[in-house]
Amino acid sequence: MADTKLIRTFLEARHTQLGERASGFAMGEIAQRPDPADDAAARKEARALLGLFGEGGWLQPIFDLDLRGCCLMREALAEASPLTDAVFALQGLGTTPILLGGSPAQKDRWLGPIAQGKVMTAFAMTEPEAGSDVAGIATTARREGSGYVLDGSKTLISNAGIADLYTVFASTDRAKGSKGISCFLVPADAPGLRFAGAQVLSAPHPLGEIAFEDCRVPADALLGTEGRGYGLGLATLDRLRPTVAAAACGMAARALAESLAHVKRRQQFGTILAQFQLVQQKLARMATDLAAARLLTYRAAYEKDQGQERITSEAAMAKSFATEMAQRAVDDAVQLIGGRGVLASHPVDRLYRAVRALRIYEGTTEIQQLTQNETDRSQLAELTLARFNAGNLARKSSMFLIRFSSRNAWVTRAPGNTTSLLPSWPASSRASVRVAAAPTSRGSVVAVAFQGLFFFVISSMSAFEMSIPYAATLSDRLFCSMAERVALVSSS
Ligand SMILES: Cc1cc2nc3c(=O)[nH]c(=O)nc-3n(C[C@H](O)[C@H](O)[C@H](O)COP(=O)(O)OP(=O)(O)OC[C@H]3O[C@@H](n4cnc5c(N)ncnc54)[C@H](O)[C@@H]3O)c2cc1C
Repeated sequence: MADTKLIRTFLEARHTQLGERASGFAMGEIAQRPDPADDAAARKEARALLGLFGEGGWLQPIFDLDLRGCCLMREALAEASPLTDAVFALQGLGTTPILLGGSPAQKDRWLGPIAQGKVMTAFAMTEPEAGSDVAGIATTARREGSGYVLDGSKTLISNAGIADLYTVFASTDRAKGSKGISCFLVPADAPGLRFAGAQVLSAPHPLGEIAFEDCRVPADALLGTEGRGYGLGLATLDRLRPTVAAAACGMAARALAESLAHVKRRQQFGTILAQFQLVQQKLARMATDLAAARLLTYRAAYEKDQGQERITSEAAMAKSFATEMAQRAVDDAVQLIGGRGVLASHPVDRLYRAVRALRIYEGTTEIQQLTQNETDRSQLAELTLARFNAGNLARKSSMFLIRFSSRNAWVTRAPGNTTSLLPSWPASSRASVRVAAAPTSRGSVVAVAFQGLFFFVISSMSAFEMSIPYAATLSDRLFCSMAERVALVSSS
């Protein structure tokens, strides 16, 4: 069972209760269900699981827009069964655009049956030529008479072929690029919508392609207004990425539990594997990485639940770190379990097949890192501006002080006996300060006071400087050198 103690700072009492109930449901009712033998069986099982969710009211956190609740559900379900987790996740993915952008009539029509598990949803964004580059989608929706006509195709769509309702992203104005993308609610039986075929994954997960061939939908199928689809799609993904991270944590937790059970039991060289330090090191790393990933995950969910408008950076950090961590943890678990770990029937082999997709869907790790970099870059721009102002003030102060001290010999630019302000930069550019012995001249009181102010400004400036090595790690050399130039100018 997932330990909510680690993340208690981010939870409310109702979440702790939900976490316990979800773990009980997942381990009691879900974990015992046999893995589907093939894709057709997985599709049937997915529908059955959705029915179970509906009957038990397990989908409620989706409708409450309770992100921490969704994370707790996914963490518990993924630990027991990645397919069950996917069914929960996809109902959330297909429904969130309606929750965020649906009209009262659209909500009235769809949300009830979706919550009861009677209507299965799907989120149809990816196309053969538009994966990470969502703005490049080529499916079109043209206004005709009292409705729209959709043409194009979608690939890698979860629940394709078994969903009742597709949230479809199509361009109503290609000239406008991403600003011309709109979102439509298209029932599976809409004329011109065709299930083009299944795409079979190595892990059980209903996936496939759909095609729109003169597919006609009424005008009220449009979600929000024309051109709002891209924003709606990104807002949905932004909101749900922490739940992918939570699923990754659930899978990693299962991998760790399976590993621990095995190493405590399995004897080699006359003792249990758990006695070997190399084994302990692997387990310690798995546990530490898992704890770190959970903290990032629930931090992101907490911020959203508290009303933060965008959690782009927090969600990207959580998703990329947790999914990469889970991949390593599952791989370590297979290694610790040895030959039995690669047998298709073993839980860690099932995890091995299931965990891989998490690093790809809802934005790959690389796209998360780029997104995070973009956000950090805009924060760095603000920081640099503040630093520029502080640096300017310091420069003015230092020029005054140097002029003052050239008469009093209190401050020197000589490198000996100095407090270096910018240790990593050329000595010639440093403003070096030496605190003199006890003041003797008449101007000493003013000078001491001024020196205090000067140090205050300098120390604020040094704090800003700490952003420079951080910027460098973002491998944004161009931006970094700009920040350095600003700092150099202001300090010399
Ligand atoms: C199991 C599964 C379920 C899915 N379910 C859905 C669904 O329900 N609905 C839906 O719409 N889509 C779904 N997808 C599609 C998924 O969202 C895409 O696969 C994903 O966005 C990546 O797109 P792509 O596969 O076309 O890869 P590409 O975009 O072609 O990327 C290929 C590689 O290039 C890298 N790359 C791309 N651009 C850059 C860049 N600028 N800098 C550095 N590297 C870059 C990527 O990180 C990746 O490693 C699903 C995918 C999977 C695997």
